[in-house]
Amino acid sequence: MTQRRTRVRFAPSPTGPLHMGGVRTALYNYLFAKQNGGDFIIRIEDTDSHRFVPGAEKYIIDSLRWCGIIPDEGVDENGCVVETASEKHPHAPYRQSQRRGIYRKYAEQLVASGNAYYAFDTPEALARERAEAEARGETFIYNWSTRGRLLNSLTVSPEECSRLLQERDDWTIRFKVPENRIVKMDDLIRGHVEVNSSTLDDKVLWKKADVLPTYHLANIVDDHLMEITEVIRGEEWLPSLPLHYMLYEAFGWQETMPRFAHLALLLKPVGNGKLSKRDGDKMGFPVFPLHWVSPEGEHSRGYREDGYFPEAFVNMLAMLGWNPGNDREMFTMDELIQAFSMDKVQKAGAKFNPDKAKWYNKEYLRLKSDRELAELFVPILEEHSVKADFDYVVKVVALIKERATFVKDFWDIASYLFRDPQQYDEKDAAKFWKEENYTLAFKVADFIAAYDGPMTHEGVGAAMEEYIKGNEWPMGKVMNCLRLALAGASSGLGIADIVILIGKDAVNRRIEAAKKALC
Ligand code: GLU
Repeated sequence: MTQRRTRVRFAPSPTGPLHMGGVRTALYNYLFAKQNGGDFIIRIEDTDSHRFVPGAEKYIIDSLRWCGIIPDEGVDENGCVVETASEKHPHAPYRQSQRRGIYRKYAEQLVASGNAYYAFDTPEALARERAEAEARGETFIYNWSTRGRLLNSLTVSPEECSRLLQERDDWTIRFKVPENRIVKMDDLIRGHVEVNSSTLDDKVLWKKADVLPTYHLANIVDDHLMEITEVIRGEEWLPSLPLHYMLYEAFGWQETMPRFAHLALLLKPVGNGKLSKRDGDKMGFPVFPLHWVSPEGEHSRGYREDGYFPEAFVNMLAMLGWNPGNDREMFTMDELIQAFSMDKVQKAGAKFNPDKAKWYNKEYLRLKSDRELAELFVPILEEHSVKADFDYVVKVVALIKERATFVKDFWDIASYLFRDPQQYDEKDAAKFWKEENYTLAFKVADFIAAYDGPMTHEGVGAAMEEYIKGNEWPMGKVMNCLRLALAGASSGLGIADIVILIGKDAVNRRIEAAKKALC
């Protein structure tokens, strides 16, 4: 068999905002495609109209774009799902609800080959079966053990079947799962898996009532038509794998059946189980990439709005369940494409650590240039009605960026470099603002006012230190008083840096204000 071009897809159902676990699935698909020089396709699986949520499709696409996960096919440059076929998007439409005409013939093909059948049982009849089984302490399952006594094309005459197909509009096509067959499957992450088909139910493939296929049929048919070579998806789909294998076989498509990889779940930071929005709400971190407002008006926070850089979010996500085989933690998208490998994707669930997410952001913040960070800081300054010279902002950023995790932290760290303190930290004042110290601090301020050497960190720093030491004054106490007066708190940058940035006039003004407010 000739080597096929790698083609993978991310196939979300637009049932709500995309969980970060879903972003990771898309990311691994993207990395795999790019590493193999192949295509990453987006397909919207919206055949379940009851679970459709307006806005979810756009949210999913916007989220992937923010992460830099750009599809080759299925979504155009404007972020719209492609509806009309072209050279670049030969399999359009990429929204299953718009492909509805395609699927019925495949379902009928399986009926014709004896792999599927029409089922006419009403919801009431099935509910009765379930209740009766429950009364016996059993679970009803529609399969080889029950289909022979239920209302379907296997139990009625061909004439009766034609009549029911004509008259009723609530019939379905079910897959006829063979009895007692060992389905042998291979998963790229989990290895070889075997399941006895007798434990499976005859899944509905197509519904007359909706004139739509169910997930299973649409998914297999589209993966086949779109020439998908690897299916990389969440492990919640592992139980469906035997059915999918049998569907490929029933269609006679084994030769081109994709390889499968089922990714383990993202787990709660503490305790057991799947990472949920509730964990995020409780512990104060987002589980969604972007802010989301549900149609009911419920808000969910997003990594983007919380101030994360997309590179940090992507790097953090990539490492949740994959490792490069060494200690390296920092990877750009291109480096991830180089380094990613399916055999280093772990079988066990990955515990999410919100502190690690912050660590990544801090690391990426430090890697950014001062000018780039200053550009991001300017709008925050404007929100606080501060207009500052851009070069001044760059200088401030250079001095404070090591202390920040997010750009939004800059204001808390450095507001006093843009305006006089509005208040003084009470605890610091109680601790440091003592007469024997602040009188000395005022003298240092006078010294600064008279200082006529170079206005540099070294110049101002050395002169001040020499002056205080020469007088044998307590350095720490004097500095804390000065910082309290100039910055509003005793923690912050070194006095020399503050003096250089705000200038001598502001030093005088702030000392006078502190005298009035604190003495
Ligand atoms: N529509 C499915 C989902 O939302 C896709 C599963 C698959 O990738 O096969 O998870």
